[in-house]
Amino acid sequence: MATVTLRDLRKSFGDTEVIKGIDLEIEDGKFCVLVGPSGCGKSTLLRMIAGLEDIDGGALSIGGEVMNDIAPAERGVSMVFQSYALYPHMTVYQNMSFGLKLAKESDETVEERVRNAAEILQITDLLDRKPKALSGGQRQRVAIGRAIVRDPKVFLFDEPLSNLDATLRVQMRLEISRLHRRLGTTMIHVTHDQVEAMTLADQIVVLNQGVVAQAGTPRDLYDRPANTFVAGFIGSPA
Ligand code: ADP
Ligand code: MG
Repeated sequence: MATVTLRDLRKSFGDTEVIKGIDLEIEDGKFCVLVGPSGCGKSTLLRMIAGLEDIDGGALSIGGEVMNDIAPAERGVSMVFQSYALYPHMTVYQNMSFGLKLAKESDETVEERVRNAAEILQITDLLDRKPKALSGGQRQRVAIGRAIVRDPKVFLFDEPLSNLDATLRVQMRLEISRLHRRLGTTMIHVTHDQVEAMTLADQIVVLNQGVVAQAGTPRDLYDRPANTFVAGFIGSPA
């Protein structure tokens, strides 16, 4: 079970508090979409869950276990970044297997997990290519594949589709939805795209200046936005 629970979570950079006491529960296996204006703290929050930023206050737990002081690799969390962050000198296979090798998984396990992820994402025929020989959409699949091979309990997606053109974005949105159904993993997905939020989410969380403006189902937020800020973000006519 991988319910993600945030209790009064806080983070400052210098004197500036950017995450100002966030309480949130994302149930095991649910698809949570995080939206909010640029600079409101979405990436910082994901990085805190992934263990890439220290937590200054409050508690983060995953599956009931407090994670504040647990190393990133031990959290059962994989993150996909907007920039993809593929290693240019490595093949797709090497990119996908790198983290598993660092974690000292056996060659057999590495091969099996990479082949399995490649099959799910339909990139088996690209395994020997380098990233520069791939299209944007293919690179995005590799970045997602690299997250899948670690068999995480929780996926974090930080605007993974924002660098793709509109057509590809719709296609990858469907892929992510299919992936969620197939793996049943808890997902937290950041996007600027309202349609993406409304179609993917079991739960939408609207963040504003480091606090939760409203959290609920897409329907709840659309029909009953807590304020004009939320209405503006969700696109409801309030
Ligand atoms: P979002 O992803 O919602 O656009 P971020 O989480 O990236 O927002 O940033 C939230 C705020 O924290 C911004 O004001 C940003 O400038 C600041 N910030 C993020 N990372 C750092 C950092 N490493 N050092 C200082 N300030 C940071
Ligand atoms: Mg961001």
